[in-house]
Amino acid sequence: MDTNKEIQFTKLLKTINETHPNADLDMVKLAYEFANNAHAGQKRKSGNDYIIHPIATAQFLAEFKMDMPTIIAGLLHDVPEDTDVTIEDIKKNFGKEVATLVSGVTKLGALKYRGMERYAENLRRMFVAMSNDIRVILIKFADRIHNLKTLDYLPPEKQIRIATESLEIYAPIADRLGIGKIKGELEDLSFKYVHPKDYKWIIEILPHKYKEKEKHLEKVKKRVTKKLIEAGITFRNISIHGRTKHLYSLYKKLLKPLINRDLSKVYDLIALRIIVPTVADCYSTLGVLHNLYRPMPGRVKDYIAQPKPNGYQSLHTTVFTENGEIVEFQIRTTEMHEEAEFGIAAHWNYKENKGNINKKSIKWIQELVKWQKQTADNEQFLNDIKLDIFQNRIFVFTPTGDVIDLPEESTPIDFAYHVHSSIGDQCVGARVNDHLVSLNSKLKSGDIVEIITDKNRKMPSMDWLDSVKTSMAKSKIRSALKKSKLKSYR
Ligand code: MN
Repeated sequence: MDTNKEIQFTKLLKTINETHPNADLDMVKLAYEFANNAHAGQKRKSGNDYIIHPIATAQFLAEFKMDMPTIIAGLLHDVPEDTDVTIEDIKKNFGKEVATLVSGVTKLGALKYRGMERYAENLRRMFVAMSNDIRVILIKFADRIHNLKTLDYLPPEKQIRIATESLEIYAPIADRLGIGKIKGELEDLSFKYVHPKDYKWIIEILPHKYKEKEKHLEKVKKRVTKKLIEAGITFRNISIHGRTKHLYSLYKKLLKPLINRDLSKVYDLIALRIIVPTVADCYSTLGVLHNLYRPMPGRVKDYIAQPKPNGYQSLHTTVFTENGEIVEFQIRTTEMHEEAEFGIAAHWNYKENKGNINKKSIKWIQELVKWQKQTADNEQFLNDIKLDIFQNRIFVFTPTGDVIDLPEESTPIDFAYHVHSSIGDQCVGARVNDHLVSLNSKLKSGDIVEIITDKNRKMPSMDWLDSVKTSMAKSKIRSALKKSKLKSYR
């Protein structure tokens, strides 16, 4: 990267011009001058002028097609923290919206792992900031990505701390918000600092295997293209998508017991991605593929009918191609593709209407904020949060077809408390897919869950605390037990 600030700023203006044709560039220039003056004389550890960092942050946000207040706040994000300029000054010059965003980022401070107490406190602040305005966390992501890119200049223990935090906190949050692009970038930038040996190992084994596969995929691509044209499907794009872009997710896959570090068992090392105009075209394309190649049983996944909890939609299939070579296909519409890459951020895309926010993600954040207010104990809070965000999710259905999103290994009791606390407190049994099951059984994606209640049941059982997975169920069980204890003392 060029470290000349004028060159970088000109590049930013050019990007904004392309992605935001009607933007007020004078405002951007003003923000640049403002930040440049405020940071005058300050240097990064790399020796660069400090202003390079806020420009890079704004550049990321502009490429991500975030709205103008967010980009301007990106330019200004370190001004109140590191200089004499106040939020009030920013408000006077750039208006309330920009000032609120900057103050949101500043309040977050540096999310540093300094013992558990501080860590929990920072997480709490982050969730509150996210619930107030999700754009704050996007600025924080952009800030973190540039910091990770310049991590080589810091001492080793700092490198490890920042990279670990990015891997364990920031990336899962990006994933939960459905922003695959940011999740992937945070993980890959952190990987080599957190697991240096394994990083080297993957870098060494990958290219050979990849080249081999790529050659074959070129042939498959040609053949599929021809068949799609014959079938009259007007696909927009068919491209080879490599996991080389997402080394960390490949690494996690390699660690799975069934794969046991054997690269030849990773079938989706490279996949063919087909982007088509409509949902109907997705299914027709799947038909064409299965007509051409035999599908591998159990590997056809319909994430269109049942999207992943973070909103991801696509059809996936793995097929046997020529010479028995196994190839994965991902089929989606343009809209689904945008959603997969940008997630919640897609809704701030300048060209789209602003009110259209991913309601489900926002609801999830608001629930988190509620829980964190209820849980005074920091250790408890951290454990609950780890369970809730930093693990895989399943989705199950109510008898009327509503989707409920829960952590993996959730039980009918988690489900009951998710619906309503009185349903949880009075729960005596559960039917899953029309069969009676025990209350500590584990739910699976796609299960239809019906809770049997008894009005005479007045409080939950203490044992439930051992099997439930969600912090919501835990805190509700605890508070119901506490209440009943108080009553019995009277
Ligand atoms: Mn910064």
